[in-house]
Amino acid sequence: MLLIDGKKTSEEIKSEIAARVAEIKVEGGKIPHLAAILVGSDGASQTYVGAKVKSCEQVGFQSTLVRLEESVSEDELLKVVEEINKNPEIDGLIVQLPLPKHISVEKVTNKIKPEKDVDGFTPANVGRMTLGWPAYVAATPYGIVELLKRYNVETSGKHCVVIGRSHIVGSPMSILMARNEYPGNCTVTLTHSRTQNLAEITKTADILIVAIGKPEFVTADMVKEGATVIDVGIHRVEDSSKKSGFRLIGDVKFDEVAAKASAITPVPGGVGPMTIASLLYNTLLAAEGKVYAK
Ligand code: NAD
Repeated sequence: MLLIDGKKTSEEIKSEIAARVAEIKVEGGKIPHLAAILVGSDGASQTYVGAKVKSCEQVGFQSTLVRLEESVSEDELLKVVEEINKNPEIDGLIVQLPLPKHISVEKVTNKIKPEKDVDGFTPANVGRMTLGWPAYVAATPYGIVELLKRYNVETSGKHCVVIGRSHIVGSPMSILMARNEYPGNCTVTLTHSRTQNLAEITKTADILIVAIGKPEFVTADMVKEGATVIDVGIHRVEDSSKKSGFRLIGDVKFDEVAAKASAITPVPGGVGPMTIASLLYNTLLAAEGKVYAK
């Protein structure tokens, strides 16, 4: 069984990005600059944004964190997005989700200039990805594609089953795995909450990508012998043996599925770390005008 190590791979990608930033400095070019907007004080959101800003520092990027009160109006937030859209110093912009209920995610997402949308959430970038044009691909699916590539997982002609159809993971993942390039060229089945006989379908998967958001949902009896299993889920469960009082588990029952799979991502240390590496990579592309010409 091959352990697909997202932690190690993400460190490699970060070193590659840092090396490119060092070259840019020597060339006297513009240092990539990522801006993040955080609304409110949700603990998980603060942790995620904090990790993103810290990673920017690690690779030599500039970063700006804009913190807004939970009570900020939609108009005020849209104005901040517009200011960043117009600021030539800033290459990439992310708005940490979820947003408070009184703010429309659609309106805010749609306000972000596609050229700076390094999360790949705007209709322009989702459309471009779907067409196979240069695009910022959402960080989690992009991280998975990169893992498959760097671990040389054969995808052509394989049956890929994706569990979950969210806009940020399952749905783009199904599009990427079906496209006519590597990794891709799979026959893809996208499953969701209304799918019947799920286990019958997952048992035929050569590549199983799980983004259902239910702890240890996928068990060994749902997996084909020799499959490649990608676990996107992240859940905290209480564990008094840990200093923190909790441990992380995924959407897949790791031990029993690992015994049957040919390759598998662990949780933690699988898909999670790749998400930030992909965001940094998208920001580098933005700074260098590699997706939309500057
Ligand atoms: P989501 O809750 O938006 O979507 C879950 C999907 O699962 C839905 O499309 C739903 O139709 C499907 N589903 C629910 N019950 C089902 C069933 N019985 N059979 C088949 N499909 C079913 O989730 P999401 O945002 O895509 O996230 C999924 C998981 O991945 C979560 O645990 C989340 O925390 C994690 N996640 C991790 C990262 C990362 O960086 N590693 C990034 C995003 C999400």
